[in-house]
Amino acid sequence: MTQPVNLVWFRQDLRIKDNPALQAAVDAGAIVPVFIKDITIHTDEQPGGAANWWLHHSLNALNNKLNGHLQVFEGDPRTILPELVSAFNAKAVFWNRCYEPAAIERDTVIKHALKEAGCVVSSFNASLLWEPMSIRKQDGGVYKVFTPYYRKGCLQATSPRYPIAAPETINFANVSSIGLAIDSLNLLPTLDWASEFYDHWQPGEEGAAAQLSEFISNAAKGYEDQRNIPSVKGTSHLSPHLHFGEISPNQVWYALNDAFNQPDNTHLDCFLSELGWREFSYYLLYHFPTLPTDNFNPQFNHFRWRDDETGFKAWSKGQTGIPIVDAGMRELWQTGYMHNRVRMIVGSFLVKNLLIDWRKGERWFWDCLLDADRASNAASWQWVAGSGADAAPYFRIFNPVLQGEKFDKQGEYVKKYCPELAKIPDKYIHKPWEAPPNIMAYAGVILGKNYPKPIVDLKASRQRALDAFADTKGK
Ligand code: FAD
Repeated sequence: MTQPVNLVWFRQDLRIKDNPALQAAVDAGAIVPVFIKDITIHTDEQPGGAANWWLHHSLNALNNKLNGHLQVFEGDPRTILPELVSAFNAKAVFWNRCYEPAAIERDTVIKHALKEAGCVVSSFNASLLWEPMSIRKQDGGVYKVFTPYYRKGCLQATSPRYPIAAPETINFANVSSIGLAIDSLNLLPTLDWASEFYDHWQPGEEGAAAQLSEFISNAAKGYEDQRNIPSVKGTSHLSPHLHFGEISPNQVWYALNDAFNQPDNTHLDCFLSELGWREFSYYLLYHFPTLPTDNFNPQFNHFRWRDDETGFKAWSKGQTGIPIVDAGMRELWQTGYMHNRVRMIVGSFLVKNLLIDWRKGERWFWDCLLDADRASNAASWQWVAGSGADAAPYFRIFNPVLQGEKFDKQGEYVKKYCPELAKIPDKYIHKPWEAPPNIMAYAGVILGKNYPKPIVDLKASRQRALDAFADTKGK
């Protein structure tokens, strides 16, 4: 008789350390680690181009950690998992929970079917500090405002689970490999637009650990001051690692707490609260599953967005003529990442100055961001648009020139991604259209020729947005 085995279904938990499902399976006996590219997920929810690049490398890194035992499949997990249970004579299946609505629905169906077939199914929390279903207001309602959610609902409830080490040894079941090669999932882009990603990122558990140590040694001690300066590496750059579960928020939470455990460390508090925003995004998505597609605040259903393909194209290519916006959009294209402050600036520009629906921005980010995350992306876009829970009010419209002058004083960030502006003096770097002709001649910039003229007048478009909002409010 063949030996019964335990399947471990890897999803957004591509790591060995602090992986409760893996640990439980290893404790139960021999394992078969499995990854399934789920083709039944709606196209809008399939990872975008940049995220697929990451996934390719992350799966390879995980497979190395598993000594080449990862079995990879493509198709419908609802049929593949029962087939694997039968093919490998598995007695149990282990996974860590996902929180996207479609994944919850799928996993519920699979759990039911496997249990019916006599298989033990065990699921765990490996990607959140506080699971959304466990946090409620005192009256049983759902939090819609971040601060009480985080301070009262989370911090005062329970401490996050302490991370566990990697299993001491993993006993792999002696089964033949029936999976696909990772390459055959065709996750890498056919056009070579991702070549620069390799200079910036190391997908996989080791890359995540290295990024965390670098952050702890360098930027974490000044996080609160530096986190808004896009020209310095003042933040952790852990977002894609967290999204793919190459590191758990618990590992990050406790590593930071252990390293900076002094009372009233505002840098630490500030950083931990950013992890809190990630939790809040998942919480919102769990309780309001239409968050990625529908306005959280229905008042925005009457908003008259503009259909402006030319404006959208200029925005997405970093050709709006507003330097900080263009620098951000080019950073995104080149590196698969954009600094948080600049994400807010480019988002506000799209939604308010161009009056383009936030969902178009969300889609572009979805395809271009390495950290593209259903919960954080949707919640953040709705925050920027003013339509979200606890969102920035619509009438607070970022002025990209003032934002640039405040957070990129010497224009270092702009000059890095818009090198054609490199010789423009600091005074005009965020508003080259105001520079006198002799300065423009010295800088070699001709607006409309080698750098665009602004595609909108910032003052007039601000007023247009306020008018459109006032119009909606009256509805
Ligand atoms: P750090 O400042 O080091 O923060 C640590 C971690 O906290 C991050 O890795 C991230 O997991 C979490 N975090 C930080 N800020 C936020 C936030 N505002 N909301 C939710 N989580 C946060 N983040 C994503 O992970 N995926 C997305 O798809 C995404 N889309 C965004 C879209 C817009 C329009 C905006 C304004 C923000 C978006 N963010 C998204 C949030 C934020 O910009 C990134 O998480 C952050 O820039 C990642 O850099 P970091 O890891 O260095 O962050």
